Amino acid sequence: MMGDIILSVEGLKARYANAITALEDVSFTLSRGEILAVLGANGAGKSTVLKAISNLLPAVRGQVTAGSVLYQGESTLTRSPAALLRAGLVQVLEGRHCFKTLSVEDNLLTGGLGRGASRAEIAADLDRVYAWFPKLAARRRAISGLTSGGEQQMTAIGRALMARPKLLVLDEPSMGLAPLVVQDIFRALKRLNSEDGLSILVAEQNSAIALTYADRAVILEHGASVLSGDAGALKARDDIRAFYLGQK
Ligand code: ATP
Repeated sequence: MMGDIILSVEGLKARYANAITALEDVSFTLSRGEILAVLGANGAGKSTVLKAISNLLPAVRGQVTAGSVLYQGESTLTRSPAALLRAGLVQVLEGRHCFKTLSVEDNLLTGGLGRGASRAEIAADLDRVYAWFPKLAARRRAISGLTSGGEQQMTAIGRALMARPKLLVLDEPSMGLAPLVVQDIFRALKRLNSEDGLSILVAEQNSAIALTYADRAVILEHGASVLSGDAGALKARDDIRAFYLGQK
């Protein structure tokens, strides 16, 4: 169910140490229980917005120079990424980050660390992840580095779920994956959203898939949010797809 606003980004401006201004003016809101897609061409600023939201920009020598990010009504820009994680703001970074030498299950278990959960809670959460991603259950003992790209992306998402997100943020989950695997992943995200009420913010270059599964989308161009609206309506607009999203 959609309800109050869980994330609000207002007038965000950011730059990197090389003086490149990556974000000029980005604003959008995400309601609780909603899937919002952040779309835009290569270099439009999607990853920078996501890093700003989790206060990860300083780690890559970037900084927010104006604007605000409110998560559950409080600024994220003054809180550590670890504190935000504990508060349920969990990000799956671009590039399906897994510990390549650990098994799939050990990767998942690392996601449950740090929140003081009991063994029984962790075991229950693990079962839930395997229920969302049955393919991971079959591969639980496999070394992550030897699993497929799709399985690594599912592992990265599963690890994030182990942290019990209230808002799950994903940076290009489709990157480098075959279309059927991408469908699988977005279908699982949609189920997490509709059955579990998880709020989801997903940055994607693959606007076709993102607009199929998201409720709303915001389009970035040269570091500015230029358009936002209902995903179905945006998907139907050929002119928008061709102009902003580089798709025919
Ligand atoms: P992509 O899909 O390629 O990741 P994007 O929409 O996510 O694109 P960003 O990665 O946010 O775009 O990049 C926005 C701008 O900031 C680009 O001009 C990019 O070159 C620059 N940029 C991104 N990361 C850094 C960094 N670590 N240091 C310096 N400049 C950066």
